[in-house]
Amino acid sequence: MSDTPIHEVYAIRYGEQKLRPEGSTFIGGDPAKMIRGLDFFTYVIKGPSGTFVVDTGMKADLSGEGGRELLVEPADVLSRIGVDPKSVETVLLTHAHFDHVGNLDHYPNAHFTIHEEEMMSITGPDMNYAPFKLAYHKRDTTRLVELLYEERLSFYTEKVTPVAPGIEFHLVGGHARGQLVLRVHTRRGWIVLASDAVHLYEEVEDERPFAIFYDLKDMIDGYRICHDLAGGIDRLISGHDPKVTDWYPAIAPEFEGVVLDLGAAPKR
Ligand SMILES: [Zn+2]
Repeated sequence: MSDTPIHEVYAIRYGEQKLRPEGSTFIGGDPAKMIRGLDFFTYVIKGPSGTFVVDTGMKADLSGEGGRELLVEPADVLSRIGVDPKSVETVLLTHAHFDHVGNLDHYPNAHFTIHEEEMMSITGPDMNYAPFKLAYHKRDTTRLVELLYEERLSFYTEKVTPVAPGIEFHLVGGHARGQLVLRVHTRRGWIVLASDAVHLYEEVEDERPFAIFYDLKDMIDGYRICHDLAGGIDRLISGHDPKVTDWYPAIAPEFEGVVLDLGAAPKR
């Protein structure tokens, strides 16, 4: 047995987009063909080093845009599972797209972390390029800058960074310049929260590139890195695939489809 601490890891499914055009999902996809859409998740990790919230979800006023619906406020769900958002000390941000950093102020006492590559991207010349700016929101970036000046935001600078024993960040870039994936040790061994390095399992299984990216080669390399880090699809948690909701059990019947236990083996 390894001495690596074991963590509970829950996915909070806070939103969905039931259908979306294949053309805006995959490079070369048919714009007229609608395919199964995306689920939206935040995560909570509990272990001996404390409780970590991973990403904050989209802001409620964006619900409805593009067929995306906010189903629950992630912070409300946290309260229902015994995690008071006001008591959360650390929020780990995987990247700064609108559906990941929209609710920074739901954690008024937290310290936030992000990779420096992402912060440089969203506050510099990258934002002169419409395709790179697409999924960011000015008010989120503004808030991140404010948090920096409030001494509540710090940066990862390395390719691989230990967050706590049994939790580590890997920089893969690709989809976003500072895209991070998180490797977490659970009761079934290490799992990988791929966040938006892998939106849909098809990206990894068929190397079918997602349509929104900063660097295509890095994104495809990211698929390979995530697959290798996870050691297989069973331990790889895609950031937006509704199959995660299909495969992973709820922590209790009243949280069916809302709070998923990623420490459990998936039913594929
Ligand atoms: Zn996303």
